[in-house]
Amino acid sequence: MKNLKIGIIGAGSAVFSMRIISDLCKTPGLGGTHICLMDIDQRRLENTYILANALSKYFDVKLTFEKVSSIEKAIDGSDFVINTAMAGGHNYLEEVRQIGEKHGYYRGIDSQNYNFVHDYRNLTNWNQFALFLKIAKTIEKFAPNAWYLQAANPILEGTTLVSTQTNIKMVGFCHGHYAVENLANLIGIEEYEWQVAGVNHGIWLTEFKAKDGRDLYPELAKHRDKHVYKPNSPFDDQLSPVAWDMYDFYGLFPIGDTVRNSTWKYHRDLQTKIKWYGAPWGGADSEIGWKWYVDSLTSVVNTVDKFAEIVLAGQRLDKIKTGTEIDVYIDEIFGEKLSGEQHIPFIDSLVNNNERRFVVNMLNKGKIAGLDDDIAVEVCAKVCGENIQFEETKLPKRIIDWYLKPRTLLAKQALEAFLTRDTKLISDILERDCRTKSSEQVRSLIDELYPFVISQMKKVEEEQ
Ligand code: NAD
Repeated sequence: MKNLKIGIIGAGSAVFSMRIISDLCKTPGLGGTHICLMDIDQRRLENTYILANALSKYFDVKLTFEKVSSIEKAIDGSDFVINTAMAGGHNYLEEVRQIGEKHGYYRGIDSQNYNFVHDYRNLTNWNQFALFLKIAKTIEKFAPNAWYLQAANPILEGTTLVSTQTNIKMVGFCHGHYAVENLANLIGIEEYEWQVAGVNHGIWLTEFKAKDGRDLYPELAKHRDKHVYKPNSPFDDQLSPVAWDMYDFYGLFPIGDTVRNSTWKYHRDLQTKIKWYGAPWGGADSEIGWKWYVDSLTSVVNTVDKFAEIVLAGQRLDKIKTGTEIDVYIDEIFGEKLSGEQHIPFIDSLVNNNERRFVVNMLNKGKIAGLDDDIAVEVCAKVCGENIQFEETKLPKRIIDWYLKPRTLLAKQALEAFLTRDTKLISDILERDCRTKSSEQVRSLIDELYPFVISQMKKVEEEQ
């Protein structure tokens, strides 16, 4: 087998880079791979590069690393391109949200029904969409056989955009489905079978069975009243009152980020969020919960910086303890287990014919009946070589009609607004928003927000 080249765009990502590189170190079948790291933030790029080399030395593997400053160099000749970049970073999201709130849109204008997930913008993320397309078109030109693996959000809109506007091979990955484990823990079962289906951040537990085939849904109902919900973090919402309430209404359990991605019933204001997602945070998407998240990401970036200093000083990395929740992250990258991110196992399954089951985001094309073919859905699939076998799945009409159709329609509308740069379409969406009190409110918002959105998009288009 030839040695692979993997390009990582946004290699300074707090969430992904070290996990992905650590996974590569623990995947013997991908030994000899050359990894091309690209980021526009030179400090983050340099530190990731230092740590990547230190990790491969620690695991005693023969990976090689290179740092480059252009997307084209990272992609040219690659077999796989992983995109973890967030155009504008968390500061951009914050600025956009502040403008939205100034004009009466609590938590920003992207907080439409079915889209409360806060780094998951679809109406204002034009810089991110421009970056997705730029990467995809560069792949088309310089590495037409490469797979594009999308980690950056929004996965639903991003996978749909790239897969409908280019001819490259693409898959989007999210780690939200692991939240099924919380349900298994609730009923005290270790071995079980499960299936999820829907769209990214809108997936539903379509199967939950014991090894002997017994349906485990009735067990959940039995444990419902015994369980006292007290979240350990803003993201610990799988057993929150919201999840049970959504289950009652839609008929299946919402999984992972789906619990955040729900109607105004649970999100109207901070008190409402606290009532449904629990104190003290009121879930990940409250003003308190989101600050908690951004602060923890900053700690990860600071830890990476600290690591890099330690390596440069010639000291050992694996013994470091910070005494904070970051230690879990440190243990994870130096531990033996894979991180749970699907990117590297997917590459291994594709290249080395090691069959595994994944949760993938790809264009529907009949995978979920009742949804359009040209929208990305999130489904379970077995991958062995380039052969991808999607599992059959069935979602209740209630979920198709009342959750997935409105959500996918909004995704399409958001992409059309981006592709046509037509802010009249955004106005039309906002005129339906329950927070809108007048057309003047919509106009003044658009007049202030969209020059900024467009200038940030152009910045991305003009960058190397
Ligand atoms: P981050 O800001 O820490 O990292 C993003 C990196 O992208 C930064 O190093 C930044 O410099 C770089 N970048 C920005 N613009 C770039 C450009 N034009 N070219 C190259 N690099 C560029 O963000 P994060 O918190 O690590 O999140 C990264 C992405 O992953 C976000 O979109 C986030 O929403 C998403 N995410 C996805 C999942 C999932 O399961 N799929 C989970 C969490 C977060």
